[in-house]
Amino acid sequence: MAQPIIKRLSLEEEYPDLSKHNNHMAKVLTVDMYKKLRSRMTSSGFTLDDVIQTGVDNPGHPFIMTVGCVAGDEESYEVFKELFDPIIEDRHGGYKPTDQHKTDINSENLKGGDDLDPNYVLSSRVRTGRSIRGFSLPPHCSRGERRAIEKMSIEALASLDGDLKGKYYALNTMTDQEQQQLIDDHFLFDKPVSPLLLASGMARDWPDARGIWHNDNKTFLVWINEEDHLRVISMQKGGNMKDVFQRFCTGLTKIEAIFKNKGSAFMWNQHLGYVLTCPSNLGTGLRAGVHIKLPNLSKNEKFGEILKRLRLQKRGTGGVDTAAVGGVFDISNADRLGFSEVELVQMVVDGVKLLVEMEKCLEKGESIDDLIPAQK
Ligand code: ADP
Ligand code: MG
Repeated sequence: MAQPIIKRLSLEEEYPDLSKHNNHMAKVLTVDMYKKLRSRMTSSGFTLDDVIQTGVDNPGHPFIMTVGCVAGDEESYEVFKELFDPIIEDRHGGYKPTDQHKTDINSENLKGGDDLDPNYVLSSRVRTGRSIRGFSLPPHCSRGERRAIEKMSIEALASLDGDLKGKYYALNTMTDQEQQQLIDDHFLFDKPVSPLLLASGMARDWPDARGIWHNDNKTFLVWINEEDHLRVISMQKGGNMKDVFQRFCTGLTKIEAIFKNKGSAFMWNQHLGYVLTCPSNLGTGLRAGVHIKLPNLSKNEKFGEILKRLRLQKRGTGGVDTAAVGGVFDISNADRLGFSEVELVQMVVDGVKLLVEMEKCLEKGESIDDLIPAQK
């Protein structure tokens, strides 16, 4: 039988050119590691080259330090441990392979958070991802798997009631206009134009089996088959993060129970917490954020350093690939792993309060030096 051509080339010859790269994967991967891991495969057939392709094709990102790799299934993190572990450690503030993750989705444990100044805080949001055990993740799942996930999710979500009662809207039955309106109103994920999403394989077969489920007033939403099997989101206008987090916790707990009742568990383990497509989302998968007006503070030379000390991250308001316009930012927790859900939302609540206070000082021409948190 003829040998596939690939077998005749050495692994040095197959090694990607990472010389211009600035992402976590490129920092960690070496020729030796490539040689060691190249022949491995998860039981669903995900390989090292599948893991790193997005990071090879995308050397860097203008606003955030990207991870540069994805998981194709729950096993990926174990089978390619030698690559993932140092990336996870790097990305998640020194989180070690022996560390244990903690979960706390009891919103009663959050202190304050119901009074972020709405003159500055335009909207509040908490999201996480969940993966359904037994299925490949979006970079690797088949069309059938994706459709099965969509079907299971619609059935599960149909049993939510009261405030959470809602409906599913599939992308392929929406008009372009309806879809664009949901995106413009910040409810729906963007179309897959980002090279990060495209190179990872997550956008294959778009828009088949993708959609959004939401309650009538669009305060509780679930994205289906975007970057993760499920993205669960609670959001509303203004600065009541407490309310948003409460609804998030209630809804998420109910969804998990419904899936369990139907015999499906979410991917989770004691070390990694909730297992998601992107290693940057492991753990809680939680991003609590606000859209906030900071026209003065954002012009301050210390803005970046202040955010870093508060363990916060900035994005533009159109999503991760956008830049801020008119001094309005998406400010959210930078961490996902090693802290509980409550701890992360608390960091956002406390941090955002301080940012508002600083912005008010600068408006009056006062100094913010005394308000800047100490370096840890
Ligand atoms: P995610 O982390 O949920 O994937 P993205 O940066 O990809 O976030 O943004 C997804 C969408 O959610 C975008 O339309 C964005 O405007 C919207 N969004 C994110 N945070 C907020 C917020 N605090 N208020 C309103 N919309 C938000
Ligand atoms: Mg996103």
